[in-house]
Amino acid sequence: MAIALAAAAISFIVGMLLPGNQQGSDKPATAAVQNLNQSLTVNPLAKEVGGDRTSFNLDRTVEELLTVLEPKEKRLTFVPPEQFQGTTVFEGTIKYSQKVIALTVDDGPWPETTEQMLDIFKQNDIKATFFWIGKSLETSPDIARRVVAEGHAIGNHTWHHPYDPMDAATAASEIDRTAKLIYETTGVKTTYFRPPGGVLTNGLAKYAKEQNYSVVMWSVTSADTDPRAQPEAFVENVLKGAKPGAIVLMHDGGGDRSRTIKALPDMIAGLKEEGYRFVTIPELLEMQGKSAA
Ligand SMILES: [Zn+2]
Repeated sequence: MAIALAAAAISFIVGMLLPGNQQGSDKPATAAVQNLNQSLTVNPLAKEVGGDRTSFNLDRTVEELLTVLEPKEKRLTFVPPEQFQGTTVFEGTIKYSQKVIALTVDDGPWPETTEQMLDIFKQNDIKATFFWIGKSLETSPDIARRVVAEGHAIGNHTWHHPYDPMDAATAASEIDRTAKLIYETTGVKTTYFRPPGGVLTNGLAKYAKEQNYSVVMWSVTSADTDPRAQPEAFVENVLKGAKPGAIVLMHDGGGDRSRTIKALPDMIAGLKEEGYRFVTIPELLEMQGKSAA
């Protein structure tokens, strides 16, 4: 009886979810599965037979269904609009009526500073774009998962952060190894790439473009890697360079970024005061794709 009921419930969910298993409709589907999962777990009958293999297996089956029907990669794939694939982007060409700006954060995930930054973004309801280094990701996987869970966009920033010219195989390895770890750690697939140091001639950008990545540069730097500058200077740099469609560079990793953390709230407040809305790089390029059409 329990098994028959379970089977009926499962086939009902499958029937309900399969046609709508598209991006955008995944929320109701998730809710449906979670509701069912919950009702099964809190059902007093189910509790009575808590040790029963049937109810345990049913829970497991629902979990598995979630994985099969909603693979993470469907929800967590960052692919540029076609016109930007294999190109280098410095900023968005956005109409002045659309006052948007994209904050980008390089070299993490990093202990402490990344999470401090996430807290500030959350308080301000801002989504940013994080370009990760493979070897940083390797040491801070939990922080990476928090970045993704909070809805930020992700890009690839190589494994070792190299500047010097390299052969094609090395360039491929720098990018592919990082892409693989990003996927294994967070379920994210991304074809956004930021070249370390903004170097476009060492073989990395060439390989990325061949692989249909969008190579994302920046139009405004906070200059937060300048060891002598004060946080106030970072704020000033960004506010001076801000314009609709601008891509702002800052760092959460690769060294002590406490000055960036100190500058960030003022930077955000200043931009908000000027009427800016914050978008991720994928959102910026989507907007641009549309306004050009
Ligand atoms: Zn970097």
